[in-house]
Amino acid sequence: VLVPENNFLKSPDSEKRRVAIFGSTGSIGVSALEVIRANPESLEVFSLAAGSNTGKLAEQISEFKPEFAVIGDESKLKTLREEVAGRSPATKLLAGERSLIELAAHPDYGVMLAAIVGFQGLPSVLSAIKENKHIALANKESLVAAGSLIKSMLADSQAVLLPVDSEHSALFQVLQGENPKTLNRLILTASGGPFLHASPGELDAVTPAQAMKHPKWSMGPKISIDSATLMNKALELIEAFWLFNCESDKLDVLVHPQSIVHSIAEFVDGTQLAQLSVPDMKGPISFALNYPNNRLPNVMRALKLEEVGRLDFYALDHARFPAIRLAREALRCGGATPAVFNIANEVAVDLFIQRRISFPGIMRLIEESLERHSSHNYQSEEELYSLMVEVKKDIIDRN
Ligand code: NAD
Ligand code: MG
Repeated sequence: VLVPENNFLKSPDSEKRRVAIFGSTGSIGVSALEVIRANPESLEVFSLAAGSNTGKLAEQISEFKPEFAVIGDESKLKTLREEVAGRSPATKLLAGERSLIELAAHPDYGVMLAAIVGFQGLPSVLSAIKENKHIALANKESLVAAGSLIKSMLADSQAVLLPVDSEHSALFQVLQGENPKTLNRLILTASGGPFLHASPGELDAVTPAQAMKHPKWSMGPKISIDSATLMNKALELIEAFWLFNCESDKLDVLVHPQSIVHSIAEFVDGTQLAQLSVPDMKGPISFALNYPNNRLPNVMRALKLEEVGRLDFYALDHARFPAIRLAREALRCGGATPAVFNIANEVAVDLFIQRRISFPGIMRLIEESLERHSSHNYQSEEELYSLMVEVKKDIIDRN
């Protein structure tokens, strides 16, 4: 795990932890604000940041009165100022990617919640790593695209990455106090998404609205579509590879439609430890934000297994859902291939939302992009950004 060993022993903070939320208006950001609202003696908002939703950001600013608020889209700064209009006079309002990077490096916050969606979340995460921050990472695309870079930067830093993704949080929780050498396997559970049992003909006709309706979780549009293609689980496999330093042959996926068992660690003695809860991201968010302090109260409804009744588990049909196989191939190729895998998915999801490609077209586009761009490498952050611009352009031109 990318948490230095001494951190497990760190004594609890006596002060409130100040949280810098990147992506505050999204599904994860809003859940994090609920956790903070319910735990004012442990957590407080230091800063808020969003892409373009000025109305929602202005409401959050007037409730939480942060020191800073950033709107990613610079053309929206004027509107944001008008909407805040004196409701939080001490909040400094900023805009643009540079401001996000500078805010991520600010000395006065305790933990970053990285909840911007997509590769565009990477610069602020890297900025926080350079400043030795604690980072509660929801933005899995960053770690998938830049895993090797992040790992080498962490080696020279006191920064700590704490998983927010529910599967990785589950594993992080069950691995507390265990010896990594006794680990046999990590099993990521997958709900299977809305089309687990759909026929190929039905998949051809899937609309963006259908793909965005997840049976168990309420999430942002991009991750909902990723769950329907199983690309979410594929990204999570790569995420687990980096977070837990775990080879891909020790990472498995198990379909579990009820989304109650959030993942399972298997040890050399045959024991499996799992973490269970209702499907609610406030659980993993609160665990990461307050780690290594105690668990917080008033977070989720307690699970009543007698109401759930049964828990089902199935093997994934890899012929119908090729995403996991492609993730393993991307890891095997190494270099920039996981970044290509991620960016191809981001482009494909956008094209699908615009109804320019079909639902099965998403996986075809990703597979074709991997074939075309499997030999790239990068040495620096800048090289990775320019390579992604180039690959993205090539994919869009061909579709
Ligand atoms: P979302 O679409 O609901 O929210 C995305 C947030 O990012 C919004 O606040 C948006 O304003 C902000 N944003 C977008 N572009 C930006 C930019 N250029 N600059 C600044 N902010 C920008 O997405 P979400 O569902 O909250 O997911 C966020 C991340 O968390 C994703 O990486 C996702 O994979 C991950 N995640 C989400 C869930 C979930 O339950 N929603 C679970 C696990 C992991
Ligand atoms: Mg997840």
